[in-house]
Amino acid sequence: NKMLTNDQLAQWDRESFFHPSTHLAQFARGEAPQRIVTGGEGVFIEDRDGKRLLDAFAGLYCVNVGYGRTEIAEAIAKQAHELAYYHAYVGHGTEASITLAHMVLERMPKNMSKVYFGMSGSDANETNIKLVWYYNNILGRPEKKKIISRWRGYHGSGLMTGSLTGLGLFHKKFDLPLSQVIHTEAPYYFRRPEADMTEAQFTAHCVAELEALIEREGADTIAAFIGEPVLGTGGIVPPPEGYWAAIQEVLRKHDILLIADEVVTGFGRLGSITGSEHYGLEPDLITLAKGLTSAYAPLSGSVVGERMWKVLEQGTDENGPIGHGWTYSAHPIGAAAGVANLELVDKLGLVTNAGDVGAYLNTQMRDALAQHPHVGDVRGEGMLCAVELVEDREARRFYEHPGKIAGAVVGKMVEKGVIARAMPQGDILGFAPPLCLSREEADRVVEVTTAAVHEVL
Ligand code: PLP
Repeated sequence: NKMLTNDQLAQWDRESFFHPSTHLAQFARGEAPQRIVTGGEGVFIEDRDGKRLLDAFAGLYCVNVGYGRTEIAEAIAKQAHELAYYHAYVGHGTEASITLAHMVLERMPKNMSKVYFGMSGSDANETNIKLVWYYNNILGRPEKKKIISRWRGYHGSGLMTGSLTGLGLFHKKFDLPLSQVIHTEAPYYFRRPEADMTEAQFTAHCVAELEALIEREGADTIAAFIGEPVLGTGGIVPPPEGYWAAIQEVLRKHDILLIADEVVTGFGRLGSITGSEHYGLEPDLITLAKGLTSAYAPLSGSVVGERMWKVLEQGTDENGPIGHGWTYSAHPIGAAAGVANLELVDKLGLVTNAGDVGAYLNTQMRDALAQHPHVGDVRGEGMLCAVELVEDREARRFYEHPGKIAGAVVGKMVEKGVIARAMPQGDILGFAPPLCLSREEADRVVEVTTAAVHEVL
């Protein structure tokens, strides 16, 4: 309501609105950023003060097609007029949800069989873990239940998914992780334990850590391994050379399922349709959200591979209908947004653009900043890029109060009209722009980042 004054809204915001992932006390005292966003067009958003910002993080790496796409808005409106809601329980569906399921499967690796729709990346991962447990119970091995995740992985913030997440902030004071979750080494080459390790040696180290963990816990107690093809929220870290091939070999040897969490990488962000395709993964389960609808409506997917699907069918023959469902599973409005979104991704060639402009963004960023004395690492893959700031680059010595320096740089960047994200653990500037970013817009992102880094450091 434009009749409300900005001051009134800002006051209600502080009085009534519990913001996620926010320093609550600072926000209440008016010491934390507060922005009321009103509109968006292409890669830009606009706030109530009339400030226009180039959103180089696509919201939370989700608005892949960019803002203001009328094709998706119209598909949502049409669906809302015709049928805003019907459930998907006991065999019900809508044209939109069935069409989207078909379109999703067409884009997944060959061995995938079905897709279950939820609302968020977190609930899709909850679903996947429940399916893993169900699977092992049907196969008569109830002791095979633990889930391996990586430190610095991000898989959501529910009870199980917050446990899978390997970032201390998401555990602290919440009594997480739950006991079924065990963490292994992050494939984070810049933070390798010994400076003189090659990438291949570091991969071998990660594999040895995983094997030692499996040995310690016993393979017959471990059900699955979950990982993002490229670590996202933990720092935007592409895997070291040979990582996924070597990890998959270990998992196969011990009959441990692989869950590829493609919430960020699904539908084009790496310049390939999936991260699984990009790195040659053969997952048993895939987690989808974000790019499925470009966040025009909340929708997620749990994609189930052939091998598991057969066991799930057998399970329902033995036990009756599968006892798992959300009221909003396959919500028609989300599904309609998903269909229009995936059509647009194809029509605009966004997977190719993400690869091309993403490579350009990464090259330009490296050229502009890699030699700066406080830039330790510039890394990325496709339309993902990170700049890691360090106190001393040779010694890989990090700042004493992680986040402060990156926060200051990101603050400067906003003043100059570009949004980047200070990633939650360390001093890492994260970039994950809409996949429709142009080269000129990439230049602007690099220019503003460089200027801000030079001003702060
Ligand atoms: N998995 C990954 C890889 C994510 O990046 C995220 C969110 O950023 C999630 C899961 C959780 O998704 P949501 O925030 O929709 O619950």
